[in-house]
Amino acid sequence: MSSSDQVDLVEYFNHLRSRIDELIAQHRSLLQPFNDGVLLAHQTLEGRWRNATGVVEKMPTATAITDDDVCSICLEGLQGGTTTSTPKQPPCGHVYHQNCLAKWLSRSDSCPLCRCSATQSSSNTVDD
Ligand SMILES: [Zn+2]
Ligand SMILES: [Zn+2]
Repeated sequence: MSSSDQVDLVEYFNHLRSRIDELIAQHRSLLQPFNDGVLLAHQTLEGRWRNATGVVEKMPTATAITDDDVCSICLEGLQGGTTTSTPKQPPCGHVYHQNCLAKWLSRSDSCPLCRCSATQSSSNTVDD
């Protein structure tokens, strides 16, 4: 192996390295929109969850609950079930566990039973 061959090899490796760096940079820029999308989706979900939790917390706590009443989301008893969560009542009058309703409303805006808007009408019931 002559010394000129060695120089060629070193140059070749340097060329390869810079080419690899280029490819990695390209790869990163290709992935960036995807990463941003995942982050955005995560933030949106978190925002919706916080929103739903706030809305459900403001709903009146259902008081006239019997042992036979069940939460239609988890099908556990509203009273004496294994789920120890406050029974909450959206404007339509149906009753669900606070946790179940918050989870539901973070994905949907309507009551799971009657499809009435469970989130919007709460803003209409301002103290007159
Ligand atoms: Zn439930
Ligand atoms: Zn309803």
